[in-house]
Amino acid sequence: MGKEINGKAYADKIYLEIREKTRRLKQKKGKVPHLSVIVAGDDPASKIYVNIKEKRAKENGMDFSLFRFKKDASEKSIIEKIKKINKNKKINGLIVQLPLPKKFNEKKIVNTVSLEKDVDGLHPASIGALLRNEDSFISCTPAGIMELIRSVKKDLSGMKAVIVGRSNIVGKPVSILLLKEHCTITICHSRTRNLKNEIKNADILVAAIGRPEFIKGSWIKKGAIVIDVGINRVEDKSRPKGYRILGDVEYKKAKKNASHITPVPGGVGPMTVAMLLKNTLKAFNQQQ
Ligand code: NAP
Repeated sequence: MGKEINGKAYADKIYLEIREKTRRLKQKKGKVPHLSVIVAGDDPASKIYVNIKEKRAKENGMDFSLFRFKKDASEKSIIEKIKKINKNKKINGLIVQLPLPKKFNEKKIVNTVSLEKDVDGLHPASIGALLRNEDSFISCTPAGIMELIRSVKKDLSGMKAVIVGRSNIVGKPVSILLLKEHCTITICHSRTRNLKNEIKNADILVAAIGRPEFIKGSWIKKGAIVIDVGINRVEDKSRPKGYRILGDVEYKKAKKNASHITPVPGGVGPMTVAMLLKNTLKAFNQQQ
């Protein structure tokens, strides 16, 4: 039976370090890192995610500001605001909460965030730097995934890593990060011919598909490290909220074969915000 990788406990450890560092900064320099978030429209999931970011930033001693735009706001007004924040020396990190309402040109808006404040690591130059092994902000979910893998195995050299999903925010950057650790990588997607066979050979599996329990426990190689990124809301009338959250991997069965596995919830999810604050601290230090 494999061990659970407790992402929540790992994230709490990171928060503890961040709190200590912000406390010392306040003492020594009289200032602390400042994170800003731009939100447009009224997506309910975005609201929840932004609230968590605000709560975590504040409880870990950082300054936080939120800039809200209605869904009928102009793209120009958002871009103007980002340019203003880019010039504001008191703000160290800036993210645009995604997804934006469809009418906006998401790429154009995200690309306006200056490279030094791009704590979500989504700017094309941040991604280019990642590809070239140069220092950059690594986007938060992939960075969190790497911390969790390294928490159970330090040397990943030569391991076969299979990443299912090729999104810009998870699958592609995780692949590059695992390649950097000298893994042999296979990236799978909806056109992959025999997903089961690919997964059966994986020493490390990262599942980022968005389909509840799509990856069967019997597909997991004995001793594999399994990172389940999926967050899928599935109707369940027996629960108070009327739903439950499942990952992309059949957790209970996969745990029997895996050496280590992340649960959903409580695995990758809590790491994402912790890495955002870590990036904001890094931005602050670089800007001093
Ligand atoms: P996405 O942009 O929707 O991409 C999904 C990927 O899965 C695509 O590359 C798609 O292939 C692939 N896919 C879909 N069906 C497949 C199948 N039957 N077989 C193999 N591959 C298949 O997703 P995402 O934004 O990366 O998110 C993935 C999941 O992670 C979601 O559940 C999301 O909620 C979750 N997530 C969690 C966090 C966190 O903090 N924990 C952060 C981000 C995302 P094609 O490219 O061929 O379409």
